[in-house]
Amino acid sequence: KEILSFVLPDEASTELLGKRLAEAVLKHSKEITDRGLNIRLQGTLGAGKTTLTRALLRALGFTGRVRSPTFTLVETYSVQGLAINHFDFYRFESPEEFEEAGFRDLFGAGRMTLCEWPDKAEPFLPPADLLILIDLKGDGREAKLCPENEWGGIVAKEVEE
Ligand code: ADP
Ligand code: MG
Repeated sequence: KEILSFVLPDEASTELLGKRLAEAVLKHSKEITDRGLNIRLQGTLGAGKTTLTRALLRALGFTGRVRSPTFTLVETYSVQGLAINHFDFYRFESPEEFEEAGFRDLFGAGRMTLCEWPDKAEPFLPPADLLILIDLKGDGREAKLCPENEWGGIVAKEVEE
């Protein structure tokens, strides 16, 4: 599977990547309605996982406040006919909390999920279609889009174009 790299020298370029992801989502909203879209965001604290998600939601037309789900664990949005669930599992003490909270019900057809700190919810977290790795690079960042299946590859390709 092809990995796509994006150099993000400043916050504006992270936001542009979020906007392009939103455009890919809009182009494929029918597929999301049919099968959902699961994205995992990996990278250290302050890498830009929440910044990217916020830009995606803004570009999809969400005008309200986009808060980090650090304390709430999940923030839920309804926009463009899609249910979007933004998770942050950083504060999980054990992965069983994923099951106990009933988060599994927030995955599936018609739903898009963005998960920060996915490793903290393993092995209960449903599989990702697309992995986005964000690394620090000097004062900026580098993002790698890693498709986990054919569907994730279609979305990643669309972001690239
Ligand atoms: P995370 O959710 O990964 O912990 P946040 O999105 O909350 O990270 O915070 C990222 C921080 O890094 C913000 O202060 C943001 O302004 C900054 N930032 C985001 N993207 C870039 C970038 N490409 N280059 C430099 N700084 C960035
Ligand atoms: Mg965050």
